[in-house]
Amino acid sequence: MVKTIAVLGGGYAGLRVVKCLTHKKVDARIILINKNKYHYESTQLHEVAVGNKEPSDISFDIRAALPDSVDLIVDAVTSIDRENHRVMLQESDPVEYDYLVNALGFESESFGIKGVAEHSLSFNDIDSALAVRAHIERTLARYATSHDQNDLHILVCGAGFTGIELLGELIERIPEWTRQYSLPEGGITVDCIEAGKKILPMLPENLSSWAVKYLTDHGIKIHSGTPITEVRAGSVLSNDTEFPGNIIIWTTGVQGSHVICDSGYSQKRNRVVVENDLRVKDHPDEFLIGDVAAVPDPDSGRFYPTTAQIAVAQADCAASNLAALLDGRPTSDFHFSSVGTVCSLGPGSGVAAIDELGHWKFKGHKVGLLKRIVNDRSVLELAHVKEMLASR
Ligand SMILES: Cc1cc2nc3c(=O)[nH]c(=O)nc-3n(C[C@H](O)[C@H](O)[C@H](O)COP(=O)(O)OP(=O)(O)OC[C@H]3O[C@@H](n4cnc5c(N)ncnc54)[C@H](O)[C@@H]3O)c2cc1C
Repeated sequence: MVKTIAVLGGGYAGLRVVKCLTHKKVDARIILINKNKYHYESTQLHEVAVGNKEPSDISFDIRAALPDSVDLIVDAVTSIDRENHRVMLQESDPVEYDYLVNALGFESESFGIKGVAEHSLSFNDIDSALAVRAHIERTLARYATSHDQNDLHILVCGAGFTGIELLGELIERIPEWTRQYSLPEGGITVDCIEAGKKILPMLPENLSSWAVKYLTDHGIKIHSGTPITEVRAGSVLSNDTEFPGNIIIWTTGVQGSHVICDSGYSQKRNRVVVENDLRVKDHPDEFLIGDVAAVPDPDSGRFYPTTAQIAVAQADCAASNLAALLDGRPTSDFHFSSVGTVCSLGPGSGVAAIDELGHWKFKGHKVGLLKRIVNDRSVLELAHVKEMLASR
């Protein structure tokens, strides 16, 4: 009897698993379930959020990219009935599986801070990125009649990777908004509020300080060592300090999909600790990969960070292990060696530490190009998921 593999989520990890499984010509029925009929590049959502890119620039139709042999169900997973091997969907009938690959990705995380959900906006898909853009543009346009300075104040909460890359895109966009809404020159201000003392700690010191200088030279005020304690309508509080602003964007971090806790997994921030071969303890037919998985790094003893680069590598490992299980062979452990870290600061600049072929450090305009190269090589075999799938 042919086995059924259900792959949940058509992001980096989910699509890559499908691609590898079809490449390996496994003897199984493959069903991909994704809530949209399109794939979007999560790594570029911040560019859509400020209007430097359109949704069509960072997305493509999944069906057109999939081999005919793969079944696609466009629906939202609501939960997984793990005992009975069934995926519960919002609109369609449950889907039964023999093997499950859960790659449902990330959602924004509020860390329980008061007022975040009510008074700030975050982006974790195309719709929420467009909602951020609409809010910014509506608020800036309102200044013509409100003359409220706070309508021109943008507060970015969090200076992690997403926050910093967003700041870079804002630098690029602000002159255009100033012209578009006939605003006073220098009227739009951006404050970034971050709990940590060090910005971009994953990069070497000279690169992270170069990035901070680049942003501050372009008018961004970065308040590090400033933990946010509350978000209110029109301001962000750090204990007794109040930052006023009517555009509040929340980028402090992510958690895994809510489907994880809705399905009864033992989890922390909707992430499940998996075994070294990416399966779930006591559920040998389930793989968790990408941002829903907490994967131990045997070298450091810590968990790997959640990045697209690592999600894609996990997908390769999960697909190999699925093929092994179908053939009755043993599974292999996940190992990862990083290509490097690239942080863009808008389309024309950035910082990068590349680990391959020696340790290279880059800053400035070369990084825009480098991001494409690194992305093309690793994750972005990502930018070209569509072509990869098509050129089996
Ligand atoms: C602004 C930004 C920039 C980033 N830049 C980088 C970078 O430069 N390099 C890097 O390596 N990483 C980067 N990351 C991190 C990276 O985007 C994530 O680690 C990566 O997207 C995780 O891949 P995934 O496949 O697990 O999840 P996702 O890419 O989130 O894919 C999940 C998929 O599941 C679908 N889905 C979700 N819920 C449901 C449901 N209930 N039912 C059905 N389908 C569902 C979604 O629509 C989506 O298609 C960035 C993240 C952000 C937000």
